Amino acid sequence: MLDNNLTIYNSLSRNKETFVPSHPGHVGMYVCGPTVYGDGHLGHARPAITFDVLYRYLNHLGYKVRYVRNITDVGHLEHDADEGEDKIAKKARLEQLEPMEVVQLYLNRYRKAMERLNVLPPSIEPHASGHIIEQIEYIKKLLDSGYAYESQGSVYFDVPKYNRDYNYGKLSGRNVDELLSATRDLDGQNEKHSPADFALWKKASPEHIMRWPSPWSDGFPGWHLECSVMGEKYLGETFDIHGGGMDLKFPHHECEIAQSVARHGHDAVRYWMHNNMITINGQKMGKSLGNFITLDEFFTGSHPLLEQAYSPMTIRFFILQAHYRGTVDFSNEALQASEKALQRLIEGYKRLQTLKPSDQSTVDIKELERKCYEALDDDLNTPVLIAHLFEACGIVNRINDGHDKATASDIEELKSLFDTFLIDILGIKPEEGGDEDSLTPYKNAVDLLLSIRAEAKAKKDWATSDLIRDKMAEIGFKVKDTKDGVEWSIDSKS
Ligand code: ZN
Repeated sequence: MLDNNLTIYNSLSRNKETFVPSHPGHVGMYVCGPTVYGDGHLGHARPAITFDVLYRYLNHLGYKVRYVRNITDVGHLEHDADEGEDKIAKKARLEQLEPMEVVQLYLNRYRKAMERLNVLPPSIEPHASGHIIEQIEYIKKLLDSGYAYESQGSVYFDVPKYNRDYNYGKLSGRNVDELLSATRDLDGQNEKHSPADFALWKKASPEHIMRWPSPWSDGFPGWHLECSVMGEKYLGETFDIHGGGMDLKFPHHECEIAQSVARHGHDAVRYWMHNNMITINGQKMGKSLGNFITLDEFFTGSHPLLEQAYSPMTIRFFILQAHYRGTVDFSNEALQASEKALQRLIEGYKRLQTLKPSDQSTVDIKELERKCYEALDDDLNTPVLIAHLFEACGIVNRINDGHDKATASDIEELKSLFDTFLIDILGIKPEEGGDEDSLTPYKNAVDLLLSIRAEAKAKKDWATSDLIRDKMAEIGFKVKDTKDGVEWSIDSKS
């Protein structure tokens, strides 16, 4: 089984390469996990599902996989939002919660959404906040090597020096000269020797809650550092696969490469893999565009842009119908088509369990199985794999109608084909459809209540309108008036 034909597109070489792990039989895999400061939204689903399928396939091939997916909980500066204030710190101040309480709340929500999407938990989920000592030690090594410098209590990575010795920008293809001449007015800019330099340690401002002592200041580590440090700690100085969304190529992964090359003189990662992004109705997702839809909103259909609820399996299947390096555009139309397609596959799977064997055979399941492996081996080509599963469905239907004949062993092979590729590797759970259907009357009842409330509001009957909202809140429904109408969700705190 371990003699595999898997090829992976390596973002660094920009080529499909045969996958050969550095330690026979073992695979070390690191994927940049969520930055924990928002509800689990759609953007979280794609990398999680993409690398879940890779994890499942490597396991199926017989590898012992150590899959590390970090949790960015230290909070890092976001220059384009909230005046650079740490998001976790800000939320904590507003709600009077401990920062780690906020982290836990979001993390629980994220994990619950991942479980519903049937994403397997990774082997290790290290928190950035739990590895401050290791990050400080790593910074000391970078200072010793001369690729970092201290400036007013912060420590920065010296990009121009690194670029003279190595190649900064080799992953993203960015031109470092352009970066050096860019004069974006970043926070702490004047502390840096060059605008391209990035923070390894940031001195915390007095109001910053999440802070740790260090030789340089009370502060917090730079975002890029945690992945170099935790990847090395759990997977070693060199490991096989590093994954993440394409948006992380620059600066995040470029900086990770620079850190580990400056530290060890060689790359840490052998295969870089990046999934493409998600758009909604052809637009990038963004809070300001009003199309920032959480996974829970998809599951309940409670966002104004959604015509109905979409089950977690529909979302998962829809994402897998595209190759991970292609874009995926979410629209009601496309999701409804996906829902129907998935239903057809599941019906085929269920019909398969009832087929009667014949003593003749007019089908070739082995050949179809070979094609399924070929699809996955071709850089995880899930859309082609799904096309083969539809072919298998066609065979099931023809056997069922008497147009084809299958022996007992053909039927066993067909069952094993569905169980292996649809259930185990694509991670589709057949029972989910029924669950969602049974929820429909409850969703309709909520919509009915909200339409009564809308009528009361139209008649300026505020007492009734508020009563409905408050009573719904008491039993766990959060109702929010927005400029586009009313949104509701199940309050996960209750
Ligand atoms: Zn990362």
